[in-house]
Parts: sequence; structure tokens; C-alpha cells
Amino acid sequence: MQALHTISATTRQFLEKEEQYGAHNYHPLPVVLSRGEGVYVWDVDGRRYYDFLSGYSAINHGHCHPRVIETFLAQAQKLTLTSRAFHNDILGEYAEYITRFFGYDKVLPMNTGVEAVETGLKLARRWGYEVKGVPANRARIICCDHNFHGRTINVISFSTDDDSRRNFGPFNPGYEVIPYNDLVALKTALQDPNVVAFMVEPIQGEAGVVVPDEGYLSGAAALCKDANVLLIADEIQTGLARTGKMLACDHENVRPDILLLGKALSGGTMPVSAVLADDEIMLTIKPGEHGSTYGGNPLACKVAMTALQVMVDEKMAENSAIQGEFLRNELIAMQHPHISIVRGKGLFNAIVIEHPNKDAAWEVCLEMAENGLLAKPTHGDRIRFAPPLVITRPQMEECVDIIRRSMQRF
Ligand code: PLP
Repeated sequence: MQALHTISATTRQFLEKEEQYGAHNYHPLPVVLSRGEGVYVWDVDGRRYYDFLSGYSAINHGHCHPRVIETFLAQAQKLTLTSRAFHNDILGEYAEYITRFFGYDKVLPMNTGVEAVETGLKLARRWGYEVKGVPANRARIICCDHNFHGRTINVISFSTDDDSRRNFGPFNPGYEVIPYNDLVALKTALQDPNVVAFMVEPIQGEAGVVVPDEGYLSGAAALCKDANVLLIADEIQTGLARTGKMLACDHENVRPDILLLGKALSGGTMPVSAVLADDEIMLTIKPGEHGSTYGGNPLACKVAMTALQVMVDEKMAENSAIQGEFLRNELIAMQHPHISIVRGKGLFNAIVIEHPNKDAAWEVCLEMAENGLLAKPTHGDRIRFAPPLVITRPQMEECVDIIRRSMQRF
């Protein structure tokens, strides 16, 4: 089985056009979507699917959440962009809202996730030189193996994924990569006095939802504090209720020095990211030293406030915790011989497929699509199950049934 059993002529036309005119930097499932609502998406042939990827956790609110879209449309008709050359009447309100929401002095608004990462790294270096007193150009930042923080040349400089790096060098210096979930390695790396930050995903998403041991994050936070090193939490995928708490760091009561958010911050409508930190760190960047044309635009700010408020009003973190636990229990209870691992937190989950056929996970995804559920393999044998956080118990029961039926073919 190399493709969906039935690819319609309509679908094929869309696939061919994209193949011919678009760069080949992704390998999507052969499904062409044209509409979304809540946990569902529909393809160009009118077939309905459960979305179990949620735009890599950008669609936590579900597709086209009515309150998010209402805010989006209203602001889009008033003012969308001023650039930061001028003030706009929403940025201050948003900055107050999001800093109070997460408990930081200041926010620096950006657009994509990787821009938030770059901003966090720049802030950490600045702080290192101007507050910690690291000698010029000697700052080092510790990262973890199997990380995913985005795709810029700088960020892939500390990636350990060959596909992301091959023939994109030369890479940037100033990073040290240590094993994930290894506090001993972190303690050793922190002995270098030029280390300014440790950047970590509280759960590694792209690596296949790798959940570290309990105590890892709080242990890392304590080690960083002792070493006068900033903890940067990349919560771009794990944050905003995905793991059953507003932030994944909340599971261990950790408050990172620099918090990176993106994806679902806009309710899935546009790229909106944010870097949160206290004044000692944030005020090391002065006017003209960092920025972005679209960062802090009034449309983004207004939509982000609604997106955060909707998460609270609709108790999305709570639902994520409850439905996620149900899903994992059901997956474990299947006792399927080719599901070797079920792991996750809240609605951030993955299964690992163990099968002699190395394309088995891809084929499972094709079969699930055939049965009405969209998920995507990562790193060959892992399939992420991360539906919108508005999913209900009856919907989840139907999804478990689809997964069970699809796995029965293997
Ligand atoms: N950081 C993490 C943890 C991510 O999962 C991602 C994207 O998947 C990024 C950063 C990059 O975000 P973006 O694709 O919006 O640049």
C-alpha cells in the first residue's frame, strides 16, 4: 500500500500542481484539505477527517474557533499593521495582558516560532555579556540532542538531525549539545563559566513526544540557577494547554527565565510568537538592536489576547489532561504487537511502531486517513497523536476506534 486506496482525480490535480510549482521541502500525506471546523477537516472531495496533528499544535483551539475568527475579522477591518516605526493602540494592551497572564515583566513580540528562538538566544547572549560579564564573543549556550527549535542556519547549527543539516554548513559556533534528560551531563556542561543559557523543550515534540523523567525540568532549573545561567524553555509546541497545563513547565512548577511561545498563540490563524522575560534580561536590548516588521502588529496582538482568553474560558488545559489520559489508556489497552511504546502528556502523545517494514508508520497513517483520521509519522517510526484540545469524549472514542481498526491491518 503506497498511497491512499482512492485518490480522486480532483485530489490528484491539486497534488500535481503543488509538486510542479512548489518546492519539495515537505512530504505530506496525499490529502488536500479545503475546510476546517473544530476537530474536523474536510478534503476537496468532501471527506471528513479528525485532525490528529493540529498543525503541529498550532490548532489547539480547533479549526476556525468562532471567537478567534470573530476577533480576527473585526481587527482586520480596522488596522492590521503599523510596523514598529509607529505605535498602535493594541500593542500596549496585549503586552500588559500576556505578561500578567504568564507572570513576566516584559514581552518581545515576533511572528514564527524560530524567530522567538532566535530572539531568546540573542537575549541570552546579551544578558551574558552585559549582566553576567562573559568576555566578548565567548558566550556559550547548551542545547539537547534530538532537539527541534526550527530551521534557520543558526538554529540548525545545534541540531543533531542529519536531514536538517546536510549541505547547509558552515554552522555557527557557540553551542554545546548534551544528551536530553541527563542532569549529570547538564551539571558538567554548566561548569564552563562562559555558559549563558540552557535551552530545552520540556517535552521533545518533533523527536516523537519524548517525555523526560519527572524532576528533569525542576532539576535543570535548579542547576541553572546555581550556575547563574538562564533557563530558556521552548514551549512553542508544548505550551498553551497542549500537555494538560497552560505550560508544560507548570507540571514541575518551573518558571523559565526566558519563555518562548508560538503556534497556538494566534489560535491557528497567523504566525504569532512571543518571548517573555524579566527586565534584567529584556532591557539589555535597546531600540534598533532587534525587531521584525510584523512583530507586535495589532491584528496579531488582538487575536493572541482572544486565543489566550478562550483557552482559559473553555478549560482547554483541563480537557487536554482528561482526554489525553483516556487516549493513552485506550492505546495501551489495545496491546497491539506492533505498538511498542505509548507516551505523552495531556493531548501531546505518540506511539512508536515496531515493524520489520520501515515504512509501516507511514502506511498506518495512510490507513488511518482512509478511515477518517489524519496523523503524520515523525522520524520514521513514531506517530504523533495531538488533536485539537476541544475534542470531546464521544469524539475521542470514535478516534480510538479508527486507530484500532487501522492498526488491525498490521
Ligand atoms: N520550537 C519548537 C519546539 C517547535 O516545535 C517548532 C516547530 O515545530 C519551532 C520551534 C519552530 O516554529 P516555526 O515553525 O513556527 O518557526
